[in-house]
Amino acid sequence: MGAEDQGRVKILREVAALRQTVANWRAAGESIALTPTMGALHKGHVSLVALARKRASRVVMSIFVNPTQFAPNEDFGAYPRTFGADVAMFAAAGGDVVFAPDVAEMYGAGFSTLLNVAGPAAAGLEDQFRPTHFAGVATVVTKLVNQCRPDIAIFGEKDYQQLKVIERVARDLDLGAEIIGAPTIREADGLALSSRNVYLSPEERKAAPALHAALQRCAAGIRGGGAIDVALAQARASVEAAGFIIDYIEARDAETLAPLAAPIGAPVRLLAAARLGKTRLIDNIGV
Ligand code: AMP
Repeated sequence: MGAEDQGRVKILREVAALRQTVANWRAAGESIALTPTMGALHKGHVSLVALARKRASRVVMSIFVNPTQFAPNEDFGAYPRTFGADVAMFAAAGGDVVFAPDVAEMYGAGFSTLLNVAGPAAAGLEDQFRPTHFAGVATVVTKLVNQCRPDIAIFGEKDYQQLKVIERVARDLDLGAEIIGAPTIREADGLALSSRNVYLSPEERKAAPALHAALQRCAAGIRGGGAIDVALAQARASVEAAGFIIDYIEARDAETLAPLAAPIGAPVRLLAAARLGKTRLIDNIGV
């Protein structure tokens, strides 16, 4: 009940079944990694599984398109859902369990709790454009960690502000899992892999790498001693010239996401979000 077998990967739909499987592993002395996703897997997700396998003996991937992190005007209904292919990719990557609850299992009747997150979640980046997003992310990640109780949970640096929010939540709420960040996997032309890249038209796909290229030039300029404001202005101009409408391109303290204060002592992260037609792309790099 609640479990289907697909090769050696077990598909679980219920929290109780996940808890039982993890308890059995624990009793056998295994260590457990959780990799939360919304499915539509690509090589970026696979890299999280590869890292998970190095750090733990069992790997759980959650696949759950989380309604509470989408605003009503966003793409919850249209978000790509490719479950069969996802399970095959996860199996090929050597994972053990796909946890794929439905919305009713995750948010039962009367569900009433959403985390109120500040700190990195209020850095003036994604939160300005998606004001309810991180409350939904923090809530579902807290639930997933409580449901699975892994030793480690792995998140991509691709969603850098999200990673910082989750690190904060894990410390603040004693989640008991070590949060690990994994590097961004890119196409050969620099475009960060994303489930939303399938929305790009062929012309938009050609223009899309300009975002990463602008961040790279910006980082090189800052490393070379150039003024940060000038480097950011150049990056914004070149991203606009490539046809994007910019939500933000900013430089922040890499750890806290606070605005930079002179003189710059701590590591700097460049973070960007910009729209090409109907597709919103985000990216970030270290300086
Ligand atoms: P998503 O399914 O988009 O919610 O992403 C699930 C996890 O995969 C998150 O921790 C993301 O940060 C991570 N991820 C998404 N794209 C990439 C990528 N290109 N490289 C590395 N990790 C990624």
